[in-house]
Amino acid sequence: MLIQMLDETMATIRTVAQDNRFTLHSQETGTVLQVGGGIARVRGLASVTSEELVQFPDGVLGVAINLEPEEVGIMLLGDSDKLSAGIRVTATGRETDTPVGDGLLGRVIDATGRVLDGGKPLEFHERRPIERPAPEIIERAPVTTPLETGIKSIDALIPIGRGQRELILGDRQTGKTSIAIDTIINQRDKDVVCIYCAVGQRATSVAKVVGTLREHKAMEHTVVVVASDDDPPGLRYITPYAATTMAEYFMEQGQDALIVYDDLTRHARAYRELSLLLRRPPGREAYPGDIFYIHSRLLERSTHLRSEFGGGSLTALPVIETQAQDISAYIPTNLISITDGQIYLSPTLFQKGLLPAIHVGKSVSRVGGKTQHPSLRSVASDLRLAYSQFEELETFARFSTRLDDDTRATIERGRRVREVLKQHEHQPLRACEQAVILFAVNAGLLDDLPAEKVTEAEQKIQQHLVSALPEICAQMDAGKKLDDEQWQRTTECIQDALAEFAPSETDDT
Ligand code: ATP
Ligand code: MG
Repeated sequence: MLIQMLDETMATIRTVAQDNRFTLHSQETGTVLQVGGGIARVRGLASVTSEELVQFPDGVLGVAINLEPEEVGIMLLGDSDKLSAGIRVTATGRETDTPVGDGLLGRVIDATGRVLDGGKPLEFHERRPIERPAPEIIERAPVTTPLETGIKSIDALIPIGRGQRELILGDRQTGKTSIAIDTIINQRDKDVVCIYCAVGQRATSVAKVVGTLREHKAMEHTVVVVASDDDPPGLRYITPYAATTMAEYFMEQGQDALIVYDDLTRHARAYRELSLLLRRPPGREAYPGDIFYIHSRLLERSTHLRSEFGGGSLTALPVIETQAQDISAYIPTNLISITDGQIYLSPTLFQKGLLPAIHVGKSVSRVGGKTQHPSLRSVASDLRLAYSQFEELETFARFSTRLDDDTRATIERGRRVREVLKQHEHQPLRACEQAVILFAVNAGLLDDLPAEKVTEAEQKIQQHLVSALPEICAQMDAGKKLDDEQWQRTTECIQDALAEFAPSETDDT
């Protein structure tokens, strides 16, 4: 009986071995010399490779990043409380990887795939390395489709295209996250998959963002990848790379994806912390010498692929926090030079209540202009000029009370433009709703209206257009040109909507 059982077991082992499902491999182990600050120094892992995943007891993972002849520097991806000198560490032979797949949508996870939303276990397609080479030049196509943010001042004046990298920068509490979240919300019915990568933020801020996305039904097309400020620096450092791998999965399926890195200042600080603990030589602002490279290799992975390679795209919105409005500091200038444009948020505008606090003069989009909807493009160029002339004149006009009629008209028009560019957060607008109000202010149709009535009039005009001229709306939304007759009908529609704002007889007397 016993012999028969033994025979059967041997037979199974042989079959498994024949199927190649059963391979023997040796595991290299080392000993921890020192742990602290999210770093472990290990002796004995002689053949470990750079970026290889290593495992400590209790399942804590680490990544080998400093390979020296005598010892290896490991950044920890988990809690270091239970680790101490003398414990064993095993090399896994695996590159650091992250789960990818459609099952990630709607989930809140960390870079290693740990579920943070308390839901069911994560379903994923496969695991892919977090560091992957950026697409070759030959695989890349020009940016041709707009990525609509639903924010008037961005879509009209600083348009972003799918596959572009547009930096959002500004001091703390100037509305950087709001712009990124509004853009994600606006992708609701536009089949753009979104990844929100939160690095080094407080857990409460991330919870607020997830709450906002849920409230606006934007979680279904979004993955939230988090490394909060109490996570070890190693995890904060790898999170943007892991999030990009997750986004690349969608791009490689031929889909359009959007990734928000909120924010890369904290990412750079995590890398500085690691580098200093690993005793790498500090450079400017104590950052290590390869600080430019960590961001350039990350953002190079965003692109628009040619149709032979699937035709997908990955748009990146990195966020950077400036100190005391200094956009010429080290990390901001690095990022400005890597990206295809920037949206600068000014604390002065924020304090004046001009929200979103976008400083049009200091913001630019280097590639998105070509993708802009024709209906918006036709109004936007005049708008930018009128607005910058107004800003100049407004400062000048404070010193003098006597103004000629032209100047007064420019200032009055500018005031209305400024009112029109105001927009409350989480209220993204359709392309037609944006185009009609910008057209109205440009054509001078709002000139007779008191500035404080502009917001109310705007809503009336938009509602009227959507209900009265749905075919023109659809054409504007689809990015088609309108002919003169259609613009004429739009003008009449605006005038109808404004009729109730006209001064009454009693006002005249
Ligand atoms: P932090 O530096 O803390 O990350 P931030 O620059 O990301 O801040 P937000 O958190 O987006 O800024 O916004 C700061 C505050 O301003 C929030 O309370 C937000 O509700 C408000 N806010 C931002 N944009 C608008 C807007 N367009 N309309 C109304 N309120 C806004
Ligand atoms: Mg923020």
